[in-house]
Amino acid sequence: GSATSLNTYESDYEADPADNTNINVVVRVRPLNSKEVKTGDEMITHFPGNGQIWLEPVTPKEKPKTFTYNVVFEPEASQEDVLNHSGVKRLIDMAIDGFSCTVFCYGQTGSGKTHTLTGPPHLFEKNPDPFASEHGLVFRSFLYLFDQIQNRNDFHFVLKASFLEIYNEKVIDLLNTSRKPLAVRWSKKSRGFFVENLFMVECEEFDDLLAVLEEGMRNRAVGRHNMNEYSSRSHTILTVHITSEQKASEQGVFISRHGKLNFVDLAGSEMTKKTHSEGKTLEEANNINKSLMVLGYCIASLSDLKKKSGHIPYRDSKLTKLLADSLAGNGVTLMIACISPAKSNMSETLNTLRYAARAKRIKTKPVVVMDPREALIVSLKREVGALREENMQL
Ligand code: ADP
Ligand code: MG
Repeated sequence: GSATSLNTYESDYEADPADNTNINVVVRVRPLNSKEVKTGDEMITHFPGNGQIWLEPVTPKEKPKTFTYNVVFEPEASQEDVLNHSGVKRLIDMAIDGFSCTVFCYGQTGSGKTHTLTGPPHLFEKNPDPFASEHGLVFRSFLYLFDQIQNRNDFHFVLKASFLEIYNEKVIDLLNTSRKPLAVRWSKKSRGFFVENLFMVECEEFDDLLAVLEEGMRNRAVGRHNMNEYSSRSHTILTVHITSEQKASEQGVFISRHGKLNFVDLAGSEMTKKTHSEGKTLEEANNINKSLMVLGYCIASLSDLKKKSGHIPYRDSKLTKLLADSLAGNGVTLMIACISPAKSNMSETLNTLRYAARAKRIKTKPVVVMDPREALIVSLKREVGALREENMQL
């Protein structure tokens, strides 16, 4: 990244993870594309620094609109910059420690969501060059994840990965070429939603995770041949499950934790509007992108500070069911809002920036996911220890 693009980075990820924390929201602005350059489309995005972005008024009557986020990435920002300044490393650290963590990219089709998460598709057509500068956040996060785990001597780690797609409210396993829709069910034991019969690949090393990413990207491309708009209408979720067991016992108990790291590439945000405007029957419209609409409702309800205990409609879509534990307040979430800098995209860009501003108000209280019985024993033993200490001081 150039020195100028670094001006706008303002990291505030120091917050105590045990405390209530807001969802982290960053914005990434892609460069003008060749078509926009050719047609003389103008850049209306400006970067005053300190996590701010302002949009130039399109008509003289309008006022310039300024928004503030945790970080704003200018068009010159590199994939490496996004890894280092988005706060994703903190999320990975927390997933290793047993939290449910989610990174999701939101934005209109063509705004750079897939570029940000995975990089251009040609990377996955043949053996990817591990040093390609275009590798996205997922590839870079995997490298960071293994690096961190290798430095840990206190826990033994087992990683498993899955990769799915939600299209038309159907969940498809991207690691299984049959493309048979799978059911989302509720698990009483782990108190969460899960996809039944979803393929989980145990990953002992970086190359195993990379193979999952490549296989899923290839299968996603296969689905796309059938229909033009497939990729703009589908959501993908790549999940790394991180189970860790303590090597030495703490007061007689070996703690095991179940962290999770989700990377979510959402359908194009313009889809919610199409859903309303294409004159479809309600059911058809619902199916175009129910998940994206429900995510919007969930974010709106969660961010409504006046409502104390409003109903959050997680159960109304496949996507929100699967992300409930990250959004519901026990997880840690990073939203990357992707936008175009071009004047011609002004109204979609404004929608995305407003959506992102709303998401920023959501507070979560992350908790470590561990075996409930063990968690109770550990907390009781800690309490006993503290009481003993108090007694000794008396
Ligand atoms: P989306 O997934 O949001 O529909 P893509 O990630 O496919 O959008 O991006 C659309 C096009 O713009 C792609 O050709 C992609 O390579 C390019 N692009 C997006 N973001 C960037 C960026 N930050 N730098 C360079 N090219 C980008
Ligand atoms: Mg895409």
